[in-house]
Amino acid sequence: EVKITIENLNKVYPNGNHALKDVNLEINNGMFGLLGPNGAGKSSLMRILVTLMQPSSGIVKMNGYDLTKDREQIRSMLGYLPQDFRFFSHLKTYEFLDYAARLAGMKNSKERKLAVDKMLEEVGLFEARDRKANNLSGGMKRRLGIAQALINNPKIIIVDEPTTGLDPEERIRFRNLLSTISTQDVIIILSTHIVGDISSSCTDMALLNQGGLAFTGSPDELVVRA
Ligand code: ADP
Ligand code: ADP
Repeated sequence: EVKITIENLNKVYPNGNHALKDVNLEINNGMFGLLGPNGAGKSSLMRILVTLMQPSSGIVKMNGYDLTKDREQIRSMLGYLPQDFRFFSHLKTYEFLDYAARLAGMKNSKERKLAVDKMLEEVGLFEARDRKANNLSGGMKRRLGIAQALINNPKIIIVDEPTTGLDPEERIRFRNLLSTISTQDVIIILSTHIVGDISSSCTDMALLNQGGLAFTGSPDELVVRA
């Protein structure tokens, strides 16, 4: 069981922009979609959830740990694929994942190799393991991005606009990959402005608009209302 609770969350930037307004949300196991137009506050919420930014007020708990107090525990639970994820161009695919595994604290090289090979299989990049990460196709890069986010077996996986720039085939492949992962005992939060990314794969969702929650429920209910 994994659980995130968000209570009365607010973010006001130094210039006065009120990016999140009294957000209350509970997120449970499975794939959760965060939908909203540009400027809605999605990235602000993501940055807070991955502990890159402090909220102005409010409480966020992940499995009982407090986001602002228990940062070490929270970080060890998290996997993150930012929107503009970049690779080190000189590294091969498997070297890049090995590096991610090192960063995640895996000191034993045998253990790392097992984890890296397993992950390459899981995201369909085993055949591409010796290719430079920079030379992979857009879809393959995105899959390598999710692989690095998963290497430490996170309980909570946060992906920001993951299908942007992908062709339809890769988009479906990436969605299916996330669906497979979400059958494990994890939370995946998928932030997007594309309804189709959410309706096909998420059990629950929230709609953010101008920093406030305009809807929470299942994607089917949203379509019925709209
Ligand atoms: P989204 O990811 O949904 O596009 P953001 O969280 O990026 O939304 O932005 C929400 C609002 O906060 C927007 O009005 C944006 O201009 C503002 N904003 C985002 N980052 C900053 C910042 N660093 N300083 C001031 N305002 C910001
Ligand atoms: P996103 O919507 O994914 O957050 P943006 O292009 O809106 O992407 O933001 C890129 C960067 O600019 C972020 O670091 C964000 O914090 C900052 N930013 C966004 N809006 C503003 C703003 N109104 N004032 C200052 N910084 C901003």
